[in-house]
Amino acid sequence: MALIEAKDLEKTYVAGEITVRAISGVDFVIEPASLVAFIGPSGSGKSTLLNMIGCLDPPSRGSLVVAGQDITGFSRRQAARFRGEHIGFVFQDFNLLPVLTVFENVEYPLQMVQNWSKARRRARVMEMLAAVGMADQAAKYPGQISGGQKQRVAVARALVTNAKLVLADEPTANLDRDTAGRIISLMKKMREEFATTFVFSTHDPRLVENVETTFVLEDGRLIRNDLFTGGAGHA
Ligand code: ADP
Ligand code: MG
Repeated sequence: MALIEAKDLEKTYVAGEITVRAISGVDFVIEPASLVAFIGPSGSGKSTLLNMIGCLDPPSRGSLVVAGQDITGFSRRQAARFRGEHIGFVFQDFNLLPVLTVFENVEYPLQMVQNWSKARRRARVMEMLAAVGMADQAAKYPGQISGGQKQRVAVARALVTNAKLVLADEPTANLDRDTAGRIISLMKKMREEFATTFVFSTHDPRLVENVETTFVLEDGRLIRNDLFTGGAGHA
């Protein structure tokens, strides 16, 4: 079964007299444990699409099924619960909470959704920090670590609840080339280890090179869907 299926998806923003159709008539299918990128120029609708998949912003029309559930009619409460159970997020600017330590940042989503003991939470957080190579930085604050290290922590945070879907909006945009490469390798490793699906929005050719499926957006429409198998791409 597909992990994500969108049919005739549409998103319109209305602000006073002005209507912006950010996404129009988009169809796509994303399989479990895949690496997928939405690419396209700035303003083409990448973030809007990721936000709809992530139940942060409801579609205006069409259908969107994620992990077997039609999310189009979700209330805010249902959306929040669904996010907590199924989805991890990675952002361009890392979005770590500055007043929490590395450990506490990764623990945070666990406290929201799981009724676990402190010891069990601690073990899980340390397991994830070890998986991203940050176990020895657990007591530091975000202001004391580098951008690449922050994004490692963000990846650990996205996966700590065992989410099977991670949505990453331009995750390498604020990283230098080498650091971006290491974060891409890390996310690929996480996919192998935890069978997580990663859906990216990106401009970064290095990230695009590493995904299996690319959806190209232009003015809110899907203009191309390329499937790459073993590096040999064909439309
Ligand atoms: P991208 O991520 O590809 O740069 P976005 O999804 O952010 O594109 O934006 C797609 C279009 O929708 C743009 O024209 C943008 O201005 C518009 N848009 C995005 N969010 C909103 C909003 N909250 N209100 C009004 N218009 C928006
Ligand atoms: Mg965007």
